[in-house]
Amino acid sequence: MDKNLRFVYDKLLAETAENLKKNKISATVVNDLDELHAAIKAILKPGDQVAVGGSMTLFETGVIDLVREESYDFLDRYAPGLTPEATREVFVKSFNADVYITSSNAVTRDGMLFNIDGTGNRVAAMAYGPRKVIVVAGRNKIANNLDEAMTRVKEIVSPANAKRLNLKTPCTTTGVCSNCTSRDRICNDYHITKYQRDPDRMHVILINEAYGY
Ligand code: SF4
Repeated sequence: MDKNLRFVYDKLLAETAENLKKNKISATVVNDLDELHAAIKAILKPGDQVAVGGSMTLFETGVIDLVREESYDFLDRYAPGLTPEATREVFVKSFNADVYITSSNAVTRDGMLFNIDGTGNRVAAMAYGPRKVIVVAGRNKIANNLDEAMTRVKEIVSPANAKRLNLKTPCTTTGVCSNCTSRDRICNDYHITKYQRDPDRMHVILINEAYGY
C-alpha cells in the first residue's frame, strides 16, 4: 500500500480503537490475517464453546476455518444438512456460548458499532448472552458517525447481503434500498452498541485491510 495512504488508515484505525476503549469496548488494530488469528487465539481458550454470527468477513479472513480446526467446541450454524429447526437450536444455544464471534456492519470513528439484522439472532447475541464477543472488522467498515453508518448499511451492506442470499427484495434487482415491505426484507432489527459495563466482554479487532461488506 502507498505509504501516505497507509499513514491515513493507521491514524483512522488508531483513533477508532481509542474511542471504542472510551466506551469500555476492548479494541485492537492488526495489520494482516496472521495477526488477526493470533489475536483471536489469545482471547479463546481450548475447549471454549464458540458460536458465530452470519458474516462474509469471517469466511474471507479464515476465522470460520480457525474455529472449526482448532480445539474449540464450535456451534456450527453452517453444518451441512441443518434443518431450519436445527439452525434455530444453534442460534438459541449460541446465547450461552463462551465466545460469540461476528463482524459489524459498521464501526463508527467515535467508538460505536452499528448493525442491522434480518433475523435478530446476531444483534441479540452481541447485546446479551455470550460471555465474550469478538468483533472482526476490516477498515472498510469504519464510518465517521452513526448517520454515515446507517447510510453505509442501507446503501451497500443490505442490498449486497440480500443479493448474496438471493432474496426476493427490490434491492436485489435495483441495487438500491427502497425501504421495502417484502416478506424477505432483511433490514428488521437496528442495533447500536454504545457502551459495555464489563470492559472484558466485547473485543473489537480492526484489520488494516478490507474484508466483507
Ligand atoms: S429495506 Fe428492503 S429494499 Fe431496503 S435494503 Fe433492506 S431488504 Fe433491501
